[in-house]
Formats: sequence, structure tokens, C-alpha cells
Amino acid sequence: MSDAPISAKLFERAQHVIPGGVNSPVRAFRAVGGTPRFMVSGNGAYLRDADGREYVDLVASWGPMVLGHAHPAVVEAAREAASHGLSFGTPTEGEVELAEQIIARVGSPSLEQVRLVNSGTEATMSAVRLARGVTGRHRVVKFAGCYHGHVDALLAAAGSGVVTFGLPDTPGVTGAQTAETIVLPYNDLSAVEAAFAEHGADIACVITEAAAGNMGAVAPATGFNAGLREITRRFGALLIMDEVMTGFRVSAAGWYGLEPVEADLFTFGKVMSGGLPAAAFGGRAEVMANLAPAGPVYQAGTLSGNPVAVAAGLTTLRHCTPEVYARLDAAARTIGALVDEALSVAGVVHTVQHAGNLFSVFFAERPVTNFEQAQASQTWRYRPFFHAMLDAGVYLPPSAYESWFVTASHDDKVIARIADALPAAARAAAEASAA
Ligand SMILES: *Cc1c(COP(=O)(O)O)cnc(C)c1O
Repeated sequence: MSDAPISAKLFERAQHVIPGGVNSPVRAFRAVGGTPRFMVSGNGAYLRDADGREYVDLVASWGPMVLGHAHPAVVEAAREAASHGLSFGTPTEGEVELAEQIIARVGSPSLEQVRLVNSGTEATMSAVRLARGVTGRHRVVKFAGCYHGHVDALLAAAGSGVVTFGLPDTPGVTGAQTAETIVLPYNDLSAVEAAFAEHGADIACVITEAAAGNMGAVAPATGFNAGLREITRRFGALLIMDEVMTGFRVSAAGWYGLEPVEADLFTFGKVMSGGLPAAAFGGRAEVMANLAPAGPVYQAGTLSGNPVAVAAGLTTLRHCTPEVYARLDAAARTIGALVDEALSVAGVVHTVQHAGNLFSVFFAERPVTNFEQAQASQTWRYRPFFHAMLDAGVYLPPSAYESWFVTASHDDKVIARIADALPAAARAAAEASAA
């Protein structure tokens, strides 16, 4: 853990001028201990840190780098766009092409228009505002363990009881901001029925991850997403399918390609950004027409649809061919099976879970279907597992509650390096103790 002296020095320096030394919390290694690695370059499936160590990357910038790092065509597209100017504050043709590309790829009759924004957080925040504006209702339903960015109203944790109003998850979010948020257990349609039975006339929308990836990989149970569609329609609420993580990653059409549930609003980010700040939300033209300047619901952004980000996103999507998805799926399956095998050999209780080509391991006896079960797993085994993998040159998410991400560059040679690292990591997990 102390064999990263340059990263350690940079982290020390960072802590003076950046809170906690990082610009997004999970990068800080708080959940696993040790020094976060400062990366200096990436190439395909590999990252290189400031100390010159190379890692097989299973984070992929938390999803966006679906083609691998520094993909030549994406880098060239960004370079070319930048050479024409970085931002104009006017419409550009690229934005139209990216919107067309997103709509064509998803291919849902419920996705006719999109608005480009700069982050997934902005996409979900704007979608919730639009849902409230369209319905004239104030309450929002979300699920415990689903993350939709750091939107105030969505940073709510479940109180006790099945149908509860959200309590702020963090200081700085007021009770008033989460009082309209109803937090329910994931994969529990009866809780949704109960919430609508009590508050249906006030519920503007249900927002859900198309497949949960932010508590580890937890796929929606058969019929869960369709059930949300049916209930929201019955009560005149909108369904927001958050595809920021799954969109254009688990298939060319995202989770919708695997399970075509017609949402009223979709949110996208990560892969469609090509690794630069870009995201989107969209829906039927009739719904999106409520957005300014066409309609009364305000939403805006100085850098929205930024030409360099748009070029990187468009080029990434154009290179996401059927072969790329076949590679992602195969790599996820193979690595998942290797993890399963290594942990079985070491005698560690575990379940490797897949949601499309998102996957993660829970140190739990039974499959995990919601956040409560995820929290009840033996997460303390993850810390030594993570560090053994890191020492062997495999960069996993520095938290037990995150999905693992493959790229199209995860070929047999890369996978062999992961396979080599796993037995020692599995033994470290076996030897871990809860204290
Ligand atoms: C990452 C993520 C977000 C937030 O996106 P940012 O770009 O980090 O703001 C929202 N929803 C889901 C499902 C995500 O995975």
C-alpha cells in the first residue's frame, strides 16, 4: 500500500487544496483504505499511475470508457473538434447528430427528443423537474440503493417502515428538499403499490436505475420495471428510466435493448460522453415540448452540447458496433466466472451478480436483490480483496458497492492478468475478519 510514493506525495499535496484530496468522494479510497492512485495515462484496458505502475482497469472511469482508454478515433475526433473552437454558445450541427444518434440507437417510440446537459446529475435533476412541471404534482418515488447523481431531492435515505418519506442523506440537504421524496426498497412492487395507494394523486414520477449498478450490480427482478410502468400509468405519474450507467453499455440501445419498457423520460450519460462531460435526458416530443424555450419548464446550460464533448460522444457511439457489445458481454461473463471460481476455491461465501455486462461480487450467501441485503453482506472482505488485486496490477472499484466495468479492449491477454491476480486476492478475502 505504501509502494506508491509519488501518488502518496500528490495526495498529500491535494489534501491542502481539494477537500479530501479528490474531486469525487469514492476516488479517495476511504472504503478500502490506502493511497488513491494518481493516474497519468490510459491505453486500451490499461491505466498507468504516477509511480509508473500499470494496471488492468475494471473501472473505465466509472463506465464511460467503453472502447478502452485513448481510443485513437475518439481522441482524434476531440482533437479535430477542439481545433475548430472549444465552445460557441450557439447551436452546432454535432448536437443535432448526437441527438439523432441517441434516438436512433435506443429506437423507442417513447424517445423522440433529447436535451443535452453536462452530467448525469443534471440529466436526472432536469428530468424530475420536467416531470413535476408536466404533472403539476410534487412527490417523487425513488429506490434505496439507486443513485441518480447528487440531486438534492434524490439524496434521500429510507426512513424506517416500508413507505417512508426520505430523510436527508447528507447535511446541506434540508428535510424540505427530501420531504417530497418517497424512498422504497428496490425490486418491491408491493411497496410501490402501497405508496401509490396512499399518495398516488401527488406523485409526479418514479425514478429508477434501468438496472441497479450503484449498490453493486443488482438486476431488476422479472416484471419489476414493467410493473413500474403499469402502476405509474394507472396513476398518471411519469416513469423516469435512469440509463446513465446502462445506456449504450449493456447493449446498443442500453437496458431498453434488453428489456424494452417504455419510460416517459430516459436519462443518459457516461458512455454517450466519450469520457468528456456530456449527458442527456429525453422522452416523447409531447413531454419534451414542456421544456424551455418550447414550453414553461426552465432548463439551461452554458456549455451544454459542448462541441468537443459531442464529438467524443458521437465517435464513441459510432464505434460501439455489435462486435463491441459481444466483446463486452463475453469479457464480463469470463471475468465473473473467474472471480466465482477463485472465491469458491478459497471457500469464501459470495455471489457474482450480472446485470447485462455490469457485474460485481457480493460476499453474501444468497443473491442480493436490494440495498438492505447488499448492506448485510460481508463487505469487510472487500478491502483485502481489493488491495491484493491492486498489488497484482488490477484496478477494481475502491468500494464494495460499485459495479465493475469492462471495455472492448479487455481481450484474452488482459483477462489472463486478472485470472493470475485472483487466487491470492480470494485467499486474502478468506482470511479477512469482520473486526
Ligand atoms: C453516474 C450516475 C449518475 C450521475 O452522473 P454524473 O455524471 O456522475 O453526475 C446518475 N445516475 C446513474 C444511474 C449513474 O450511474
